[in-house]
Amino acid sequence: MRRFQNFYIDGTWRAPATADAIEVLSASTESVMGTVPHGTAADVDAAVAAARAAFDGEWGATPPAGRAAWLDKLAEALQTRAGAIAEVIAGEVGSPITMARNVQAGLPIAVTSSYAKLAREASFERELGNSLLLREAYGVVAAITPWNYPLHQIMAKVAPALAAGCAVVLKPSEIAPLNAFLLAEACLEIALPPGVVNIVSGTGPVVGEALAGHPGVDMVSFTGSLRAGRRVSALAAETVKKVTLELGGKSACLILDDAPMEKAVAAGVKNALLNSGQTCSAWTRMIVPRARQSEALDIAVAAMAALALGDPFDPATRLGPLISAAQRERVEGYIARGKAEGARLITGGGRPEGFARGYYVTPTLFAGVAPGAAIAQEEIFGPVLSVLPYDSEEEAVNIANGTIYGLAGGVWSADAARALAVARRLRAGQVDVNGGRFNMLAPFGGYKQSGVGRELGEAGMEEYQQVKSIQR
Ligand code: NAD
Repeated sequence: MRRFQNFYIDGTWRAPATADAIEVLSASTESVMGTVPHGTAADVDAAVAAARAAFDGEWGATPPAGRAAWLDKLAEALQTRAGAIAEVIAGEVGSPITMARNVQAGLPIAVTSSYAKLAREASFERELGNSLLLREAYGVVAAITPWNYPLHQIMAKVAPALAAGCAVVLKPSEIAPLNAFLLAEACLEIALPPGVVNIVSGTGPVVGEALAGHPGVDMVSFTGSLRAGRRVSALAAETVKKVTLELGGKSACLILDDAPMEKAVAAGVKNALLNSGQTCSAWTRMIVPRARQSEALDIAVAAMAALALGDPFDPATRLGPLISAAQRERVEGYIARGKAEGARLITGGGRPEGFARGYYVTPTLFAGVAPGAAIAQEEIFGPVLSVLPYDSEEEAVNIANGTIYGLAGGVWSADAARALAVARRLRAGQVDVNGGRFNMLAPFGGYKQSGVGRELGEAGMEEYQQVKSIQR
């Protein structure tokens, strides 16, 4: 049991304005595994004041190399906690421990180090004719983050913000907040200067909205649902804040008629089911040549059966539970809708046998899904893959582009040039060709209603900077 009773504000643990606590449930046992304080607008005021003082004071005057040194220390302090971070996230999110170690803990640490390097190497000034262009920090940043890759989503904001020279107030997801308090412990251990990072837990409508509308916040960096992203944008508009949004997705795995089917489908299934499908960039629509649909289905069924579903703490588990009862209900609702709309349920479609506890759903495959069906248009955020058949390459591209989202995608072909040509036509921020690997330094973000702005790498850092031009 991890009980956190204070916020991390101004470089120290600070008592909340009220004594209310939020209980954090384990996704696999459904029991309480920790508590965090319920923040209020008063706590947000204190955190914003601390961040402002840091930005206007010593932190604002710290040069990039100095900021890089702090990021290195922070990465190290997170590394010493990597085991605890993985265990906490396997508990609160339900991610399988092996993946939790590699991705949920490993990735944010690597991202933090990458920003230490970038702060050291990037150029923050350049000449343009008679102008000197300066990339300056935005100021006080509010970071509002979701639960699915909780610490990664936090560090994909905190690390570039610090590299850029900003001070941060973080509101982690109230559903998986414990990992953020491990970050607070890391900040305390290295004695990060007061106010540079502040953490206030609480709900979206209370803490999130107080931050989005706060006159002392210069920029809001939000990751989460489309619904909350719209609300954050509207609130931030009142004080003309810069806003970046990383929202939902309904990404396509587009398999061309000459593709190596076995490899493409197996990779597509793995991608769609990572973290039990609770991945914003998951390829939840598999678009296959109609003539090869049944071949694809056989491969997909076998790939799903091969993923060991079970206790997240068993190193052999590849598929854990969903994060919450509410999330499971939402996913089951979509499965019912898929059936009602006439899609063919090929495998899965319910709760697995033998699990009295935990929010498990079996990997689910629908075939013959119409492009306009709800399960082909809306983000489900569960282990549900829709297979959509097509007759021509043109139609395949239109289906892939035919949603309000545009976050990610995959293209498969035996001909690399053909795959690249199709990748260029996808209206999405990240497209992997023939299984191209995730690149931590490549910009990540959405076209259309998947968001505004980019995270990771240099593009991610530039979001936290504005340009001043000085003419001489
Ligand atoms: P959510 O929108 O419910 O919550 C995200 C964060 O926003 C939480 O911290 C929450 O407390 C806060 N929030 C909620 N309502 C708010 C409001 N009115 N004002 C201010 N803040 C508010 O989303 P979630 O359920 O935590 O996460 C799942 C969603 O996040 C999915 O839609 C997923 O696609 C998306 N997501 C996107 C990316 C990306 O990079 N594009 C990454 C991960 C998750």
